Amino acid sequence: MGVYRASSNENLFGTSPKVATALQEALTNTNIYPDPDAGPLRLAIAQKLGVLPVQVVVGSGSAELISLLLRAFCLPYPGKAIALSASPTYPLYQMEAEALRVSYEAAPLNSSYEFDLQGLLAKISPSTRLLFISNPNNPTGSYLSRSQLEFLIQAVPPHVVLVLDEAYQEFATAPDYASAQEYMPQRDNLVILRTFSKAYGLASLRVGYMVAQESLLQKVCAVKQPYNVNQLAQVAALAALADEDHLQYTLQQTAAGKVHLQQILDEEGVQWWPSQGNFLLADAGVPAAPVIQHLLRNGVQVRETKSAFAFRITIGKKAQQEHLHGLFGQALSPEN
Ligand code: PMP
Repeated sequence: MGVYRASSNENLFGTSPKVATALQEALTNTNIYPDPDAGPLRLAIAQKLGVLPVQVVVGSGSAELISLLLRAFCLPYPGKAIALSASPTYPLYQMEAEALRVSYEAAPLNSSYEFDLQGLLAKISPSTRLLFISNPNNPTGSYLSRSQLEFLIQAVPPHVVLVLDEAYQEFATAPDYASAQEYMPQRDNLVILRTFSKAYGLASLRVGYMVAQESLLQKVCAVKQPYNVNQLAQVAALAALADEDHLQYTLQQTAAGKVHLQQILDEEGVQWWPSQGNFLLADAGVPAAPVIQHLLRNGVQVRETKSAFAFRITIGKKAQQEHLHGLFGQALSPEN
Protein backbone atom coordinates (compact mmCIF):
# COMPACT_ATOMS: atom_id res chain seq x y z
CA MET A 1 0.00 0.00 0.00
CA GLY A 2 1.21 3.56 -0.73
CA VAL A 3 0.85 6.24 1.90
CA TYR A 4 -2.68 6.60 3.31
CA ARG A 5 -2.84 10.39 3.23
CA ALA A 6 -5.40 10.87 5.98
CA SER A 7 -4.12 14.30 7.05
CA SER A 8 -5.81 16.89 4.83
CA ASN A 9 -9.44 15.83 4.42
CA GLU A 10 -9.08 15.44 0.67
CA ASN A 11 -11.45 13.28 -1.35
CA LEU A 12 -9.57 9.98 -1.35
CA PHE A 13 -12.13 8.46 -3.75
CA GLY A 14 -10.89 10.70 -6.56
CA THR A 15 -12.06 13.45 -8.89
CA SER A 16 -14.85 13.11 -11.43
CA PRO A 17 -13.42 11.62 -14.66
CA LYS A 18 -15.26 14.41 -16.51
CA VAL A 19 -12.80 16.89 -15.01
CA ALA A 20 -9.87 15.35 -16.90
CA THR A 21 -11.76 15.57 -20.19
CA ALA A 22 -12.69 19.21 -19.59
CA LEU A 23 -9.10 20.06 -18.63
CA GLN A 24 -7.76 18.42 -21.78
CA GLU A 25 -9.91 20.70 -23.92
CA ALA A 26 -8.98 23.79 -21.90
CA LEU A 27 -5.25 23.14 -22.33
CA THR A 28 -5.28 24.68 -25.80
CA ASN A 29 -5.95 28.18 -24.48
CA THR A 30 -3.30 28.66 -21.84
CA ASN A 31 -1.93 31.78 -23.59
CA ILE A 32 -5.10 33.70 -22.64
CA TYR A 33 -5.80 35.24 -19.20
CA PRO A 34 -8.59 33.56 -17.26
CA ASP A 35 -12.09 35.00 -17.16
CA PRO A 36 -11.70 37.63 -14.39
CA ASP A 37 -15.37 37.29 -13.44
CA ALA A 38 -15.42 33.48 -13.61
CA GLY A 39 -18.75 34.06 -15.37
CA PRO A 40 -19.86 30.53 -16.31
CA LEU A 41 -18.73 29.07 -12.99
CA ARG A 42 -20.45 31.75 -10.92
CA LEU A 43 -23.61 31.29 -12.97
CA ALA A 44 -23.59 27.52 -12.42
CA ILE A 45 -23.02 27.94 -8.66
CA ALA A 46 -25.75 30.59 -8.45
CA GLN A 47 -28.22 28.39 -10.31
CA LYS A 48 -27.46 25.45 -8.05
CA LEU A 49 -27.95 27.54 -4.92
CA GLY A 50 -30.89 29.62 -6.11
CA VAL A 51 -29.08 32.97 -5.79
CA LEU A 52 -27.96 35.58 -8.32
CA PRO A 53 -24.46 35.40 -9.88
CA VAL A 54 -23.69 38.79 -8.26
CA GLN A 55 -24.09 37.00 -4.93
CA VAL A 56 -21.19 34.65 -5.70
CA VAL A 57 -17.43 35.32 -5.65
CA VAL A 58 -14.88 32.60 -6.41
CA GLY A 59 -11.44 32.36 -4.92
CA SER A 60 -8.22 30.39 -5.12
CA GLY A 61 -9.56 27.95 -2.55
CA SER A 62 -11.75 29.12 0.27
CA ALA A 63 -8.43 29.88 1.99
CA GLU A 64 -8.03 32.93 -0.26
CA LEU A 65 -11.57 34.02 0.57
CA ILE A 66 -10.83 33.84 4.30
CA SER A 67 -7.91 36.18 3.74
CA LEU A 68 -9.99 38.54 1.57
CA LEU A 69 -12.72 38.71 4.25
CA LEU A 70 -10.15 39.69 6.85
CA ARG A 71 -8.71 42.34 4.56
CA ALA A 72 -12.12 43.71 3.57
CA PHE A 73 -13.66 43.87 7.04
CA CYS A 74 -10.79 44.15 9.52
CA LEU A 75 -8.06 46.20 7.87
CA PRO A 76 -10.08 49.43 7.73
CA TYR A 77 -9.78 49.42 11.56
CA PRO A 78 -5.99 49.23 12.13
CA GLY A 79 -5.17 47.82 15.54
CA LYS A 80 -8.83 47.69 16.50
CA ALA A 81 -10.61 44.95 14.56
CA ILE A 82 -11.07 41.53 16.11
CA ALA A 83 -11.78 38.27 14.29
CA LEU A 84 -13.55 35.69 16.43
CA SER A 85 -14.01 31.94 16.13
CA ALA A 86 -14.33 28.78 18.20
CA SER A 87 -11.57 26.52 19.49
CA PRO A 88 -10.57 24.00 18.30
CA THR A 89 -11.40 24.88 14.71
CA TYR A 90 -9.78 25.36 11.31
CA PRO A 91 -6.40 26.96 12.17
CA LEU A 92 -6.26 29.18 9.08
CA TYR A 93 -8.70 31.72 10.57
CA GLN A 94 -6.13 32.49 13.26
CA MET A 95 -3.09 32.17 10.98
CA GLU A 96 -4.49 34.55 8.37
CA ALA A 97 -5.69 37.01 11.00
CA GLU A 98 -2.26 37.08 12.63
CA ALA A 99 -0.49 37.39 9.27
CA LEU A 100 -2.54 40.52 8.64
CA ARG A 101 -1.97 41.82 12.21
CA VAL A 102 -5.66 41.41 13.04
CA SER A 103 -6.43 40.41 16.64
CA TYR A 104 -7.92 36.96 16.96
CA GLU A 105 -10.05 35.54 19.77
CA ALA A 106 -11.66 32.16 20.24
CA ALA A 107 -14.44 30.79 22.42
CA PRO A 108 -13.86 27.17 23.45
CA LEU A 109 -16.19 24.40 22.32
CA ASN A 110 -17.82 22.61 25.25
CA SER A 111 -16.43 19.37 26.72
CA SER A 112 -18.31 17.31 24.09
CA TYR A 113 -16.69 19.43 21.35
CA GLU A 114 -19.97 21.16 20.56
CA PHE A 115 -20.42 24.88 19.92
CA ASP A 116 -21.06 27.02 22.99
CA LEU A 117 -23.17 29.77 21.45
CA GLN A 118 -23.49 31.79 24.64
CA GLY A 119 -19.72 31.66 25.06
CA LEU A 120 -19.24 32.89 21.49
CA LEU A 121 -21.78 35.69 21.81
CA ALA A 122 -20.27 36.80 25.11
CA LYS A 123 -16.97 37.40 23.31
CA ILE A 124 -18.48 39.79 20.77
CA SER A 125 -17.44 43.38 21.44
CA PRO A 126 -17.84 46.62 19.45
CA SER A 127 -14.43 45.79 17.85
CA THR A 128 -15.47 42.34 16.60
CA ARG A 129 -15.77 42.43 12.82
CA LEU A 130 -15.83 38.79 11.74
CA LEU A 131 -17.11 35.60 13.32
CA PHE A 132 -15.91 32.42 11.58
CA ILE A 133 -17.90 29.26 12.23
CA SER A 134 -16.82 26.05 10.54
CA ASN A 135 -20.09 24.12 10.15
CA PRO A 136 -19.46 21.16 10.23
CA ASN A 137 -16.45 22.01 12.36
CA ASN A 138 -12.94 20.97 11.43
CA PRO A 139 -11.35 19.07 13.29
CA THR A 140 -14.16 17.88 15.57
CA GLY A 141 -16.90 17.01 13.04
CA SER A 142 -19.47 18.64 15.31
CA TYR A 143 -22.07 21.00 13.86
CA LEU A 144 -24.71 23.61 14.56
CA SER A 145 -28.25 22.22 14.60
CA ARG A 146 -30.83 24.11 12.58
CA SER A 147 -32.19 25.81 15.71
CA GLN A 148 -28.68 26.78 16.87
CA LEU A 149 -27.94 28.21 13.42
CA GLU A 150 -31.18 30.21 13.43
CA PHE A 151 -30.43 31.48 16.91
CA LEU A 152 -26.90 32.52 15.96
CA ILE A 153 -28.00 34.30 12.78
CA GLN A 154 -30.53 36.31 14.77
CA ALA A 155 -28.23 36.98 17.72
CA VAL A 156 -25.08 38.20 15.93
CA PRO A 157 -25.22 42.01 15.84
CA PRO A 158 -25.16 43.76 12.45
CA HIS A 159 -21.62 45.16 12.91
CA VAL A 160 -20.25 41.60 12.83
CA VAL A 161 -20.03 39.64 9.57
CA LEU A 162 -21.02 36.05 10.34
CA VAL A 163 -19.07 33.62 8.13
CA LEU A 164 -20.46 30.10 7.94
CA ASP A 165 -17.62 28.04 6.52
CA GLU A 166 -19.39 25.07 4.97
CA ALA A 167 -16.33 23.32 3.53
CA TYR A 168 -17.77 19.95 4.62
CA GLN A 169 -21.47 20.73 4.07
CA GLU A 170 -21.92 18.14 1.30
CA PHE A 171 -20.97 15.32 3.70
CA ALA A 172 -23.40 16.31 6.47
CA THR A 173 -26.20 13.80 6.98
CA ALA A 174 -27.62 14.75 10.41
CA PRO A 175 -31.35 15.44 9.96
CA ASP A 176 -31.07 18.68 11.91
CA TYR A 177 -28.05 19.99 9.98
CA ALA A 178 -28.95 23.04 7.87
CA SER A 179 -26.86 25.12 5.51
CA ALA A 180 -27.00 28.88 6.05
CA GLN A 181 -28.06 29.07 2.40
CA GLU A 182 -31.73 29.10 3.43
CA TYR A 183 -31.23 32.17 5.62
CA MET A 184 -29.22 34.18 3.11
CA PRO A 185 -32.05 36.47 1.95
CA GLN A 186 -32.84 37.56 5.51
CA ARG A 187 -29.48 38.95 6.56
CA ASP A 188 -26.98 41.44 5.13
CA ASN A 189 -24.12 40.33 7.37
CA LEU A 190 -24.12 36.63 6.47
CA VAL A 191 -21.45 34.92 4.33
CA ILE A 192 -21.28 31.28 3.24
CA LEU A 193 -17.95 29.78 2.28
CA ARG A 194 -17.76 26.58 0.26
CA THR A 195 -14.96 24.73 -1.50
CA PHE A 196 -14.31 22.38 -4.40
CA SER A 197 -11.41 20.85 -2.45
CA LYS A 198 -13.38 18.33 -0.42
CA ALA A 199 -16.47 16.54 -1.80
CA TYR A 200 -15.68 17.67 -5.37
CA GLY A 201 -12.13 16.34 -5.16
CA LEU A 202 -10.32 19.36 -6.64
CA ALA A 203 -7.95 20.25 -3.79
CA SER A 204 -4.93 20.64 -6.11
CA LEU A 205 -6.64 23.16 -8.39
CA ARG A 206 -7.66 25.61 -5.61
CA VAL A 207 -11.25 26.73 -6.08
CA GLY A 208 -13.62 27.94 -3.38
CA TYR A 209 -16.57 30.28 -3.38
CA MET A 210 -18.41 32.71 -1.20
CA VAL A 211 -22.11 33.55 -1.23
CA ALA A 212 -23.50 36.76 0.31
CA GLN A 213 -25.51 39.86 -0.50
CA GLU A 214 -24.13 41.88 -3.40
CA SER A 215 -23.29 44.94 -1.26
CA LEU A 216 -21.13 42.84 1.06
CA LEU A 217 -19.36 41.13 -1.85
CA GLN A 218 -18.51 44.48 -3.40
CA LYS A 219 -16.31 45.13 -0.37
CA VAL A 220 -14.59 41.77 -0.87
CA CYS A 221 -14.10 42.37 -4.60
CA ALA A 222 -12.44 45.70 -3.81
CA VAL A 223 -9.48 43.77 -2.32
CA LYS A 224 -9.52 40.82 -4.74
CA GLN A 225 -7.06 40.46 -7.62
CA PRO A 226 -8.77 40.17 -11.01
CA TYR A 227 -7.30 36.82 -12.13
CA ASN A 228 -7.42 35.06 -8.78
CA VAL A 229 -8.77 31.75 -10.12
CA ASN A 230 -6.92 30.31 -13.11
CA GLN A 231 -8.81 29.08 -16.17
CA LEU A 232 -8.07 25.38 -15.64
CA ALA A 233 -9.45 25.64 -12.12
CA GLN A 234 -12.61 27.36 -13.39
CA VAL A 235 -13.14 24.75 -16.10
CA ALA A 236 -12.50 21.88 -13.69
CA ALA A 237 -14.90 23.26 -11.08
CA LEU A 238 -17.63 23.64 -13.71
CA ALA A 239 -17.18 20.03 -14.82
CA ALA A 240 -17.10 18.75 -11.23
CA LEU A 241 -20.23 20.70 -10.30
CA ALA A 242 -22.10 19.23 -13.27
CA ASP A 243 -21.22 15.63 -12.37
CA GLU A 244 -23.88 14.95 -9.75
CA ASP A 245 -23.35 11.17 -10.10
CA HIS A 246 -19.72 11.44 -9.06
CA LEU A 247 -20.65 13.64 -6.11
CA GLN A 248 -23.20 11.05 -4.99
CA TYR A 249 -20.60 8.29 -5.43
CA THR A 250 -18.17 10.25 -3.22
CA LEU A 251 -20.79 10.84 -0.54
CA GLN A 252 -21.86 7.21 -0.50
CA GLN A 253 -18.25 5.94 -0.35
CA THR A 254 -17.46 8.42 2.42
CA ALA A 255 -20.50 7.40 4.47
CA ALA A 256 -19.63 3.68 4.15
CA GLY A 257 -15.97 4.42 4.85
CA LYS A 258 -16.88 6.33 7.97
CA VAL A 259 -18.78 3.37 9.43
CA HIS A 260 -15.85 1.10 8.55
CA LEU A 261 -13.31 3.43 10.19
CA GLN A 262 -15.46 3.73 13.29
CA GLN A 263 -15.54 -0.09 13.56
CA ILE A 264 -11.77 -0.30 13.25
CA LEU A 265 -11.23 2.38 15.88
CA ASP A 266 -13.69 0.59 18.20
CA GLU A 267 -11.75 -2.66 17.76
CA GLU A 268 -8.51 -0.80 18.45
CA GLY A 269 -9.94 0.79 21.61
CA VAL A 270 -9.59 4.29 20.15
CA GLN A 271 -12.26 6.82 21.03
CA TRP A 272 -13.86 8.81 18.21
CA TRP A 273 -16.47 11.54 17.99
CA PRO A 274 -19.52 11.58 15.70
CA SER A 275 -18.61 13.59 12.63
CA GLN A 276 -20.55 15.33 9.88
CA GLY A 277 -17.38 15.68 7.80
CA ASN A 278 -15.19 13.28 5.77
CA PHE A 279 -12.96 12.76 8.81
CA LEU A 280 -13.04 11.58 12.41
CA LEU A 281 -11.47 13.12 15.48
CA ALA A 282 -9.87 10.29 17.44
CA ASP A 283 -8.15 9.83 20.79
CA ALA A 284 -6.22 6.72 21.81
CA GLY A 285 -6.14 7.82 25.47
CA VAL A 286 -2.39 8.52 25.32
CA PRO A 287 -0.40 11.50 24.02
CA ALA A 288 -1.04 11.86 20.30
CA ALA A 289 2.52 12.73 19.17
CA PRO A 290 4.03 9.18 19.48
CA VAL A 291 0.85 7.66 18.02
CA ILE A 292 1.06 10.00 15.02
CA GLN A 293 4.76 9.12 14.58
CA HIS A 294 4.04 5.40 14.73
CA LEU A 295 1.23 5.70 12.17
CA LEU A 296 3.52 7.71 9.90
CA ARG A 297 6.26 5.07 10.09
CA ASN A 298 3.61 2.63 8.91
CA GLY A 299 2.42 4.71 5.98
CA VAL A 300 -0.55 6.49 7.56
CA GLN A 301 -0.39 10.26 7.73
CA VAL A 302 -2.93 11.74 10.18
CA ARG A 303 -3.29 15.33 11.43
CA GLU A 304 -2.33 16.58 14.85
CA THR A 305 -4.74 18.98 16.59
CA LYS A 306 -4.38 21.58 19.30
CA SER A 307 -5.19 18.88 21.85
CA ALA A 308 -2.27 16.82 23.18
CA PHE A 309 -4.36 13.64 22.83
CA ALA A 310 -6.67 14.01 19.85
CA PHE A 311 -5.76 13.62 16.18
CA ARG A 312 -7.79 13.70 12.98
CA ILE A 313 -8.14 10.97 10.34
CA THR A 314 -9.61 11.49 6.85
CA ILE A 315 -12.00 8.80 5.62
CA GLY A 316 -10.21 6.67 3.02
CA LYS A 317 -10.74 3.59 0.91
CA LYS A 318 -11.52 0.37 2.74
CA ALA A 319 -8.10 -1.14 1.91
CA GLN A 320 -6.34 1.97 3.23
CA GLN A 321 -8.32 1.94 6.45
CA GLU A 322 -7.81 -1.84 6.92
CA HIS A 323 -4.13 -1.02 7.24
CA LEU A 324 -4.86 0.65 10.59
CA HIS A 325 -5.63 -2.73 12.18
CA GLY A 326 -3.16 -3.43 14.96
CA LEU A 327 -1.25 -0.17 14.56
CA PHE A 328 -2.70 1.45 17.66
CA GLY A 329 -1.92 -1.56 19.83
CA GLN A 330 1.71 -1.37 18.64
CA ALA A 331 1.83 2.38 19.18
CA LEU A 332 0.69 1.95 22.77
CA SER A 333 3.07 -0.91 23.62
CA PRO A 334 5.99 -0.07 25.95
CA GLU A 335 8.62 -0.85 23.23
CA ASN A 336 7.35 2.07 21.19
N1 PMP B 1 -12.43 25.67 5.66
C1 PMP B 1 -12.26 24.54 6.32
C2 PMP B 1 -13.11 24.29 7.52
C3 PMP B 1 -11.30 23.62 5.93
O1 PMP B 1 -11.11 22.50 6.64
C4 PMP B 1 -10.50 23.90 4.79
C5 PMP B 1 -9.41 22.97 4.30
N2 PMP B 1 -8.92 22.07 5.12
C6 PMP B 1 -10.72 25.09 4.13
C7 PMP B 1 -11.69 25.96 4.58
C8 PMP B 1 -9.87 25.55 2.96
O2 PMP B 1 -10.11 24.80 1.86
P1 PMP B 1 -9.59 25.29 0.43
O3 PMP B 1 -8.72 26.47 0.60
O4 PMP B 1 -8.90 24.12 -0.13
O5 PMP B 1 -10.86 25.64 -0.31
